[in-house]
Amino acid sequence: MTENLFRSIPSVDELLKAIQDEPGVQSIPRTLLKDLVNTFLDQCRSDIRSGRIDVSSDLNVSSLVPRLLHHVRQKSRPNFRRVINATGVVVHTNLGRSLMAEPAVQAVDQACRWYSNLEFSLETGKRGSRYALVEDLLCRLTGAEAGLVVNNNAAAVLLMLDTLAAGKEVVVSRGQLVEIGGSFRIPDVMAKSGAVLKEVGATNRTHLYDYEQAIGENTGALLKAHTSNYRIIGFHKEVPLPELVKLGERYNLPVLEDLGSGNLFSFPSQTGLDEPTVQSVLKTGVSVVTFSGDKLLGGPQAGIILGRKEYIQPIKKNPLNRALRIDKMTLAGLEATLRLYLDPENAEKQVPTLSMICASPEQLKRKARRLASGLRSNLSHAFEVRTVSGASRVGGGASPEHDLPTTLIQLVPKKGIAVEALRDVLLQTDPPLVGRVEHDSLCLDPRTLQADELRQVGPVLEQALELLGRNQ
Ligand SMILES: *Cc1c(COP(=O)(O)O)cnc(C)c1O
Repeated sequence: MTENLFRSIPSVDELLKAIQDEPGVQSIPRTLLKDLVNTFLDQCRSDIRSGRIDVSSDLNVSSLVPRLLHHVRQKSRPNFRRVINATGVVVHTNLGRSLMAEPAVQAVDQACRWYSNLEFSLETGKRGSRYALVEDLLCRLTGAEAGLVVNNNAAAVLLMLDTLAAGKEVVVSRGQLVEIGGSFRIPDVMAKSGAVLKEVGATNRTHLYDYEQAIGENTGALLKAHTSNYRIIGFHKEVPLPELVKLGERYNLPVLEDLGSGNLFSFPSQTGLDEPTVQSVLKTGVSVVTFSGDKLLGGPQAGIILGRKEYIQPIKKNPLNRALRIDKMTLAGLEATLRLYLDPENAEKQVPTLSMICASPEQLKRKARRLASGLRSNLSHAFEVRTVSGASRVGGGASPEHDLPTTLIQLVPKKGIAVEALRDVLLQTDPPLVGRVEHDSLCLDPRTLQADELRQVGPVLEQALELLGRNQ
């Protein structure tokens, strides 16, 4: 019986012929296509062995073609793909952090398409420096004396410590020895830089005298790190930066701060966000600060290092800098993003990270209701669709516990579809959609849905239903 089934399996050539004129198949390289048909046939054989296929009619070319096409399309598309973020986490590290503003996208496009003055001075006709392209802009926006940019903030912290404190002790509060997602840990980065960690205080409380007592002849710097992704509540004390700066001045030691997210924008009070701006941090007289380009700033992945000239100069000259350097696409995107901040109102409108965070609860409610009513008219056979108030998050380690009020669209599947199965199958749609499961429903947060994506949610849900039907 099983022997018969095995003999009914069509040949690779038969299947290739059957799908060759289907949309999208022509553009798949022939050798890849053949391999995919072979892996599909392997799957059929294993389905016969396991009893999933038990009648020979299931092995007709015409019955196999839809499944084969699905397999071929799934396996031949790019690995790195666009995703719809319906989680409401604005700076979602796993989903690519910030979306870039339109002028930044255009600048990246130009940098890719044409030659540029990346390291060429148009004033002298001689070699120029890529760092000079954004330094003046960063200084103007933040009040820093000097600055440079590298690949990301982890690189920025490494380079700063390597330059200013290699072989010396760096005093850090125990409450700030943080691990950021993706295995960035202050103690580990410090070890790699050759600086020696000198922990002071207790996890929940560190006093100025803790720092002072730790200062010795081998001390190289005092370091403050933003605790980004967690918050200590209750009996708790951190030394404010101005006091640390004073202490540093007294002992002639640089005071460094890893700001994590970094922020150039004063968020309107109704957002409830109290992330200090880089400008205000630099005003304290801190020697050097570092922060990310793609968190609250809303630009490309980058690490920004700003501070006093006497410290930035040696950082620029550190040979390690060459290994951590920023590429031309990033630099183009970063400059265009920073230019938007010259007019903060413009920045709020054009930098998607800022506009998503600043979206008002009323705007979000309207957006949610509009989407919900569209979904109800097309998909009420499959889902109960509700809108409820809920919370979004900034993400990226900024204000980890701070809820931004929003209106969620809740989808409750009918017909015995498990909500987890719906969530999982939505990762197979084109484009995939990432939502969150709460209270036995799939929740979509309009805050992180872009205007064009509102129209895509319905069709994507239909695709998901079709895939669920196929898998049953
Ligand atoms: C996010 C973060 C980092 C790492 O920044 P990347 O740009 O991801 O390299 C380092 N320190 C703090 C405090 C952070 O929040």
